Amino acid sequence: MDKTSVVTEAEELLAEATGGGEEPAAGEPRFTLELNQDQKDIRDWVHGFAEGVVRPAAEEWDEREETPWPVIQEAAKIGLYGFEALAQFWGDETGLTLPIANEELFWGDAGIGMAIMGTSLAVAAIFGQGTPEQMGEWIPQCFGTPDDVKVGAFCASEPDAGSDVSAIRTTAKYDEAADEWVINGQKAWATNGGIANVHVVIASVDRELGSRGHAAFVVPPGAKGCEQGAKVKKHGLRASHTADVHLDDCRVPGACLLGGKEKLDERLARVREGKKGKGQAAMQTFEASRPTVGAQALGIARAAYEYALEYAKERRQFGRAIVENQSIAFTLADMKLEIDAARLLVWRAAWMGRSGQKFENAEGSMSKLKAGEVAVWSTERAIQILGGNGYTREFPVERMHRDAKIYTIFEGTSEIQRLVISRAISGVHVK
Ligand SMILES: Cc1cc2nc3c(=O)[nH]c(=O)nc-3n(C[C@H](O)[C@H](O)[C@H](O)COP(=O)(O)OP(=O)(O)OC[C@H]3O[C@@H](n4cnc5c(N)ncnc54)[C@H](O)[C@@H]3O)c2cc1C
Repeated sequence: MDKTSVVTEAEELLAEATGGGEEPAAGEPRFTLELNQDQKDIRDWVHGFAEGVVRPAAEEWDEREETPWPVIQEAAKIGLYGFEALAQFWGDETGLTLPIANEELFWGDAGIGMAIMGTSLAVAAIFGQGTPEQMGEWIPQCFGTPDDVKVGAFCASEPDAGSDVSAIRTTAKYDEAADEWVINGQKAWATNGGIANVHVVIASVDRELGSRGHAAFVVPPGAKGCEQGAKVKKHGLRASHTADVHLDDCRVPGACLLGGKEKLDERLARVREGKKGKGQAAMQTFEASRPTVGAQALGIARAAYEYALEYAKERRQFGRAIVENQSIAFTLADMKLEIDAARLLVWRAAWMGRSGQKFENAEGSMSKLKAGEVAVWSTERAIQILGGNGYTREFPVERMHRDAKIYTIFEGTSEIQRLVISRAISGVHVK
């Protein structure tokens, strides 16, 4: 895709996002949860890839703990990995296609799912905060081409700044003579950190302003002073690469500041005058992505539930299928109930986010919190239903349980989501 088409597509999407939906014609229902044909087609297409390509590869890449480049390439070849796919998912003005696609992909496998979708966090930052020129320049470089696939990384967290994003120590200083930003710091737990073609780095341009002094920078491919630190060995999501990223006097062109210097200077001036800033660089990216992350957790939960249901119908003890015992059947009923309830929260938040409605009660956080906790609980119950088999690596539910756990930790822990929700509903600065 050339630069102009990315810009045009991005501009069209932005215009659509602010335009609102069409009024239904007389006689048409105003509210429906029935998916339209496009949504069903995309769901089935992603499901087919998840079932045919992702699932069969899941165990191997989990054991290897490596990025599954051949699977990402397959996804790119069929058009599932790339800006066009994300734009297509995002283009649905109901907001549902993006969570639906994520749920299906992560139903296939979450580690590989994250290897494919991890790039979208960097893309979301560029799309949300960049100028049309920056989108055109950097988004295609996050993905590469089907013959030479690349990934992107979004680096906000640091060893001493996880939940507390305001504690970020990485600095960016402007060298006016060279029109370059000089970035110094250490980023932690970055998905695709160090192996990415494009890194989006959150840095402080004014430490005194806390998180309101943050800005997002693109670190272009091959930039000197941007190196991978230790690769993290993980409990789950092991097909997805996670690593520290070191930034040592890393110089990036002035044009790599997302949104541009003029906008940053205006924002900082407003903040210094005591006026409200328009939100923080890292938080803006997280807010937009929470329902999508919730949908990923849902995919894992559903996969475990389906596996446990089939197993319970086949496994016989005491002369009957174990599903004939209420304790097993009721657990499965509760799993289905919780998953469907979580999906409704995810879809509501996705619809609200896409139609530009304000999350007055932290509905984005609610969706991610519920889906993450349902995924951890359902996968644990699935292990219980499979008994000894559930605990072994011969059966996939233990991997699903390991994968699910991260969904109560990253993109805001469950405690932080509760903090956000309780502050939103009470108006009190709950600590
Ligand atoms: C696999 C993986 C991938 C990741 N990918 C990325 C990425 O791509 N980019 C990125 O920037 N980061 C990424 N992260 C980092 C992730 O976002 C952080 O780990 C997360 O935000 C939590 O921060 P922390 O680990 O420092 O925990 P801490 O903030 O130290 O929290 C520890 C515990 O204290 C609790 N806690 C903290 N503050 C409060 C409070 N005020 N009230 C109540 N409880 C509190 C937390 O809920 C948690 O239970 C990733 C992490 C992992 C493990």
